[in-house]
Amino acid sequence: MKEGTQSGILCAGSIVFDILVRPFDELRFGTTALVESIEYRVGGNGANTSRALAILGVPVRLMGAVGCDPAADIALSALASCGVDTTQVARLSAPTATSVVLINGHGDRQFLHRPGASDEAFSGPAPFSANAFNNASHFHLSSFFVVPPLRKNAALMLAEAKQAGLSTSFDTNWDPRGEWLAAVETSLPHIDTFFMNEDESRMMTDCCEADAARVLIERGVREVVIKLGARGCAIYSEDATIVCPAFPVNAVDTTGAGDCFVAGFLAARCRGYSTARSGLFANAVGALTVQCIGAVEGVMPEDNVLAWMREHRGDAAEDGQIFQELWDSVPDFQS
Ligand code: ADP
Repeated sequence: MKEGTQSGILCAGSIVFDILVRPFDELRFGTTALVESIEYRVGGNGANTSRALAILGVPVRLMGAVGCDPAADIALSALASCGVDTTQVARLSAPTATSVVLINGHGDRQFLHRPGASDEAFSGPAPFSANAFNNASHFHLSSFFVVPPLRKNAALMLAEAKQAGLSTSFDTNWDPRGEWLAAVETSLPHIDTFFMNEDESRMMTDCCEADAARVLIERGVREVVIKLGARGCAIYSEDATIVCPAFPVNAVDTTGAGDCFVAGFLAARCRGYSTARSGLFANAVGALTVQCIGAVEGVMPEDNVLAWMREHRGDAAEDGQIFQELWDSVPDFQS
């Protein structure tokens, strides 16, 4: 990524129309249940990360696919209203990927998912159209395991992006087919920054944290960022490890936290922040996200995130010496 520039990010991944129903505790066929709320939201890793990037103030173009149905119109208008460039979102004859999310009184969720257009996204012969890379200095690929054609085409897409001079990143999800490392192996040499959460890192490599990162770095990844939930994140490269503690907050909804964390990290890198600073900034975006209901509702423009970090710096510093040391190493954030 070109340091300190305002060049943008090309982000590929899923776009899902979510229907959230709450509270819903018991399924009884043949009856009608009254519920308090039915809400429509835009979800999917590609949509979440690109919306969060746009809110943070980074120019972002989303690549993905939706249908030609009203769900697609709603999704595209929600993306455009945040400032996401949707010119590379294909409209297919298959319906827009949709999830019905049943949420019970304890906040537990049951997803009913119809992949629709997600099953066909990124399956064309040429992964990138003529204008896809315009003004982009970074290519981020998400939803590898949930958009089936990506298992075949992601390595080629990442290689083409690298060849065009872009830096690359990759965010895994849970693999419902259980292929894990075998499925991503050919993509690894073309990935600069590999994001995954703790459970995914264990499934991917059979080991944890530093050992998990080493498995991927040995296979060609330059940098591994492991999202550690309420513990923050850890960033590994061949010669350095940086552990960034989280901001202690009251988490009410972790939907989209990982996607927004990734947006925070990429936005910070896009601005030329150091690795430690990028980890802290991403943790702040993650912490803001989990305090609000919804995937991107807690995300704010970059200056507001920095102001929030300054305000909550004291709370986080109490968490340990490491944060203070990292904080002291990032003079931009000091008030
Ligand atoms: P994923 O959503 O991909 O499973 P995580 O649950 O690790 O990823 O969350 C992503 C990031 O959001 C974390 O690395 C952290 O920065 C932030 N985060 C998540 N949960 C909390 C929490 N309870 N308190 C503070 N920050 C959190």
